[in-house]
Amino acid sequence: MSTFQAPKGTYDLIPPESAKYLAVREAIAAPLKNSGYGYIETPGFENVELFSRGVGESTDIVSKEMYAFETKGGTKLALRPEGTASVLRAALQANLHKLGNLPVKLWYSGSYYRYERPQKGRYRHFSQVGAEAIGTEDPALDAELIILADQAYRTLGLSQFRILLNSLGDKECRPVYRDALQGFLRGLELDEDTRRRVEINPLRVLDDKRAVVQKQLVGAPLLRDYLCDACKAYHEEVRELLTAAGVAYQDDEKLVRGLDYYTRTTFEFVHDGLGSQSAVGGGGRYDGLSEMIGGPALPSVGWALGVDRTVLALEAEGIELELPATTSVFAVPLGEEARRVLFGLVTELRRAGVATDFSYGGKGLKGAMKSANRSGARYALVAGERDLAEGVVQLKDMQSGEQSPVALDAVLDAVRERLA
Ligand code: ATP
Ligand code: MG
Repeated sequence: MSTFQAPKGTYDLIPPESAKYLAVREAIAAPLKNSGYGYIETPGFENVELFSRGVGESTDIVSKEMYAFETKGGTKLALRPEGTASVLRAALQANLHKLGNLPVKLWYSGSYYRYERPQKGRYRHFSQVGAEAIGTEDPALDAELIILADQAYRTLGLSQFRILLNSLGDKECRPVYRDALQGFLRGLELDEDTRRRVEINPLRVLDDKRAVVQKQLVGAPLLRDYLCDACKAYHEEVRELLTAAGVAYQDDEKLVRGLDYYTRTTFEFVHDGLGSQSAVGGGGRYDGLSEMIGGPALPSVGWALGVDRTVLALEAEGIELELPATTSVFAVPLGEEARRVLFGLVTELRRAGVATDFSYGGKGLKGAMKSANRSGARYALVAGERDLAEGVVQLKDMQSGEQSPVALDAVLDAVRERLA
């Protein structure tokens, strides 16, 4: 072991487990790529104010969890705690919204950083795949995103997840509700921290998981009863589109989510096998965010799915992903000349797209065959001096143990035929 360990709250992805993470990212990205979303990548850090203004000063993310720092040049930056604000910033900066083709649909994949109390499913460095549809108000877009996330989870084989759905209203109806809720909350027995939250962000109190708080919330005014007609109609259409697509969801009037920028549609994907870190992904509409960060009005909707928790969900459901074999053919040279000849064949096979590996380091037959076994290869190519003198290599089936000589110039064809 080295003197160093991965920092607290982080972990390394190591083969073979790391292949699951790649497969999960790919499975989430596939339906997006297939639905008009273009790939975007933004820096791992941004001006800290992008997040404090975008995500909101009063949110846990900004007030407690952000890795903020000052550069030697005096610039205040933060490691990105989430993707939406950065993606919108980048889209505005590149004027994507002015190219006359709204919505701008983007997907991303990367690392995010939050200074949290580490526990299972909650890390200080984690990874998300996300999608944003920027610049259009259309319930079909909200539905599309939920349907695509559902499709991603289903292709992975997950079934024990639920979709929670709510509407947070808009700038017309939410302030009225906020006042009503605040009035109700001010009458409760709450600790000082929570009372402060009642003043700055009362909706977030609904999200409090503690029983002492939850039991007092019975009878709290519900946003559902305050939605304006436009929000009501919008929400109803999202629900109808989901139902028509066969995507089941549960209405959850208390779902508010931890970011300030959400308006109207909000949703969360929860998995029942994950214990307290049950949210595998979430998102919603953020019609006001662009203006909050200095842009024009651009109604938008998006989500981010957590890769780490999706992998935990797969484990909870006992799902083994069918991962492609990493190595199909493993070459075992016996002697110096065979080493050169087989290395040439390995290169030829690789160029032809066959996953091939080689026994390095001049191992003997026994050690090299052990490596071949460990690689999971379906075939071994073995050659010694005598084989080369006859112009052949031995092609060995690692499962049956059968072995047959193949002419040197026929190896690629023979391997292809067998792997087909
Ligand atoms: P939670 O309620 O668990 O704190 P969140 O509301 O902070 O989640 P979002 O900001 O909506 O989470 O992020 C979307 C997804 O990213 C989450 O559903 C989760 O899968 C993942 N995620 C968020 N924070 C972490 C973390 N610290 N470690 C691992 N995954 C995370
Ligand atoms: Mg959180």
